[in-house]
Amino acid sequence: MYTHDTIAALATPTGSGGVAIVRISGPQAEAIARKVFRPSAPRETFVSHLLHLGHILDPVLNAPLDQGLLVIMYTPRSYTGETVVEIHCHGGVLLSRRVLEVVLSQGARLALPGEFTQRAFFNNRLDLSQAEAVLDLIQAKSDRGLQVAWQQLSGRLSEACSTLRERLISITAYVEAFLDFPEDDIPEKAQGELLEEMHVLADDMSSLQATFRQGKVFREGVRTAIVGKPNVGKSSLLNLLSGTERAIVTAVPGTTRDVLEETITVNGIPLLIWDTAGIRHTIDEVERIGVERALEGLNAAEIVIAMFDASRPLDQEDELIFLLIKEKPTVALLNKTDLPVVVHPQDLAQRLAHNSPISFSTKSATGMSELGQQIEQLALGNESPQDGKSPFSGTIVTQTRHRDALLKAGQGLRQAQANLQNGVPLDLVAVDLHAALDHIGEITGHVSSEDILDRIFRDFCIGK
Ligand code: GDP
Repeated sequence: MYTHDTIAALATPTGSGGVAIVRISGPQAEAIARKVFRPSAPRETFVSHLLHLGHILDPVLNAPLDQGLLVIMYTPRSYTGETVVEIHCHGGVLLSRRVLEVVLSQGARLALPGEFTQRAFFNNRLDLSQAEAVLDLIQAKSDRGLQVAWQQLSGRLSEACSTLRERLISITAYVEAFLDFPEDDIPEKAQGELLEEMHVLADDMSSLQATFRQGKVFREGVRTAIVGKPNVGKSSLLNLLSGTERAIVTAVPGTTRDVLEETITVNGIPLLIWDTAGIRHTIDEVERIGVERALEGLNAAEIVIAMFDASRPLDQEDELIFLLIKEKPTVALLNKTDLPVVVHPQDLAQRLAHNSPISFSTKSATGMSELGQQIEQLALGNESPQDGKSPFSGTIVTQTRHRDALLKAGQGLRQAQANLQNGVPLDLVAVDLHAALDHIGEITGHVSSEDILDRIFRDFCIGK
C-alpha cells in the first residue's frame, strides 16, 4: 500500500540556513526531478549517487527558482528502498518552501511524520528496532546516548534478537517433532538437555533485559532536581557542571508556558534539569506554595542534588530540605568549604539517610569527582555495564517496548519449561514457546501490528 504514491518533504529543519534539502521518494521521484531540475550538463539519465549541479525550475513559469544540487539514489539502493531524490537548494525559509511546493505540484504528496523511515521498514531496509534507533540518534542527549543509538541502528540488538529467535525456534521445532508422534515421549536424557537449554536461554533473555536500566539512562537521561536554600550555590553548581561538559538547553512544550530543560552530562550520565531559571527560587517557592506542591515537583525527579552551606549554621530552611529529600535518592553537597567552615560533613551525615555528604566548593571545583561517582552509582546502580556472562555483552536495551517484549518472551519460555517439567501435554508447551517467539519478533518487527507501527512512527518529524 505504501509503494504506490510518491512522497516529498523538507528534510532539513524549517528556518534559514546554508542549505535546505527537499527529499522525494517513490516511483515518480525521477520523473518529478526531471520536471523541476535542469542539469547544467544536460544528460540522458542521472547517475545514481552522484551530485548533479543545475537549476531548480518553476515548471509553470519555466523559470529558475534557484541554482542547486540534485542527487538521485535509484531503487533499491536508497534509504527507503525506493528511488529517492534529494534537491539541495539555498536554505531560505520561503525558497525551500517554494521548492517543496513545486515538487508537490508535479505529483508528489507531502510525507507524513516518519514516513520515509516507515517505507524503509516496509522495504526491509531497516527492522523496527533500527527504525526506532534513527529517532534516538536524532534525539540523543549525550555522547553515550549517541553511541547506544548508533549500535542499535547498526543492528546490534537485531542480531541479539535473531540469535534468541533461532535458539527458540530450534527448541520449539524439537518439541513439535514429538507432537506428530503422540505415542512417543521425549526421552529422559533429551528432555533434561532441553530443559537446561530453555533455562540458559531464559537467563540470557533476562540479562539482556537487565541492560534496560542503563539503556534508559543513556537514552532518556535522568530527571534531576537541585535543591537548597537561597544563596547556597545552586546556580553556581549548574554553571560549573554546564561548563565542564556539553550542555544542551531545549524548550519543552506542552505546559502552560515552555519549561526550559537543560541536559548536562556528569560522568557520562545525562541529567535533565528542569526549569533551570527557577532553580534560584526553590525555597521561595516552597514558602509560597507550601511544602506539598514542592514535594510534587521533587517527586518527578529521579535524583536530587541537595546543597547545604558549610559557611553558615544549619537553619530552618535546611530543615525543610532534609524533610523534602527524605525519600529521594540524593547526593548531598556541603558547599562553600573554601570559606571558614561551621557545618561539617558529620553534622549532615547524622541528618541524612543517603550516601555520605560530599565536601564541595563550586569556587574551587572541589568534590567534583565524588559528585560524579555518586551520580553514576545512583543512576546505574552497582551493575557493571558488561558482566561478560551474557552472550550479548555490550548490547544495551534502551526502549521500554523492547524491555517489555523480552520480559514477556522470558515469561513464556519459563512457563513452557515448567510445563515440560510437570508433564503437561506437549502441544501446550508449544503454545507458550510460540508466544515467546512472537514477543521476540515484536522487537524487530517480524511480528507487528498497525497499532505498534503508528505509535513508533508518529514520534518522528516530517522529512525523516
Ligand atoms: P543560589 O541562590 O543557590 O542559586 O546561589 P548562587 O549560585 O547564586 O550563589 C550565591 C552566592 O554564593 C554567589 O555570590 C556565589 O558566588 C557564592 N558561592 C557559590 N558557591 C560558592 C562556593 O563554593 N564558595 C564560595 N566562597 N562562594 C560560593
